[in-house]
Amino acid sequence: MGKRGYIYALLAALLAGMLLGFTFGGVFIDEKKPASAETPEKTEQPPEDLYSRQRSGQAGSSDRLERELPSSGVSGVEERVLLEGTQWETSLFIIRGEQPDPKMLVLGGVHGDEPAAYWSGDAAGKLRLRKGTLYVIPHLNEVARMKGTREGLGDINRKFPGNPSGDPEQRLCWEVTKLIREEGIKMVLTFHEALGFHSEPPYHPGQTLYYDWDVNPYAGTPLTSKANQIIRTLNARIAANPRGYREKELFTTHVDPIPTSATYELMRGVGVDYAFGCEVCKNNERERRVWFHLAALTSWMELEGFVIENWAEVERNIWSGLYTAI
Ligand SMILES: [Zn+2]
Repeated sequence: MGKRGYIYALLAALLAGMLLGFTFGGVFIDEKKPASAETPEKTEQPPEDLYSRQRSGQAGSSDRLERELPSSGVSGVEERVLLEGTQWETSLFIIRGEQPDPKMLVLGGVHGDEPAAYWSGDAAGKLRLRKGTLYVIPHLNEVARMKGTREGLGDINRKFPGNPSGDPEQRLCWEVTKLIREEGIKMVLTFHEALGFHSEPPYHPGQTLYYDWDVNPYAGTPLTSKANQIIRTLNARIAANPRGYREKELFTTHVDPIPTSATYELMRGVGVDYAFGCEVCKNNERERRVWFHLAALTSWMELEGFVIENWAEVERNIWSGLYTAI
């Protein structure tokens, strides 16, 4: 190779490195976006700034900000408080892109002795969208979290679809049911932790997508085939994790119908097409557990056509321990 050949090779390598750098972890980057919009300075900008500018009506000076200003003014985050003024009080975040569909609900913090399911709920609440609507209840069960036990009054995951005049946990479940009906949500993901891995004794369901039937008998939707699609993407991302991975961290499916659980009841009587529980192994470092939950969530979202604006930033924050510090 001549001197000029080396220069071309060097330029090509630099360009490839830049492209890889910008797309790493960011499978949701809008491909139509001009490359110039992906300068590091602009991607470093906290999304909160973008949204506060949008709310106050101040147009940003960069192309990126101007392009992101929603024409309808509905993009952004709404917080609602459920069971306000009670010990069970908890937040629901509605994260809206410029286009409302698809819609998905995430339930974090179902069981009080599964801390990563709370941390992951917090992380999911920080995602920001260009397309789709994500409903996130980061901590479904605050009372159980305070107690540090699986149950609060009882097991909230045996109280679905809830009861508007029942105990506080039944009322909370009913709020979830009502939200799904009012908003027409067809997809639900719940975060959980298990004691061990599915692939080694004593065979706990860690690293599985957990659901109730191969085919949802109420909607006819193929749960196992959808789960396998999600897992293909998820496992490819786990295998490409620059922090490394172990074979037993790869996900598989786990089918077990549990009446009165969120996934079962929300498909049975509430009209949800696809509901999965994401079980990660508790015997793993904190940040990995949160990353697995969020990698499962965003793999599914990507499959359904959501466009996430800030996955790379949320991912960085996961690894830096932002969500697992409390
Ligand atoms: Zn659980």
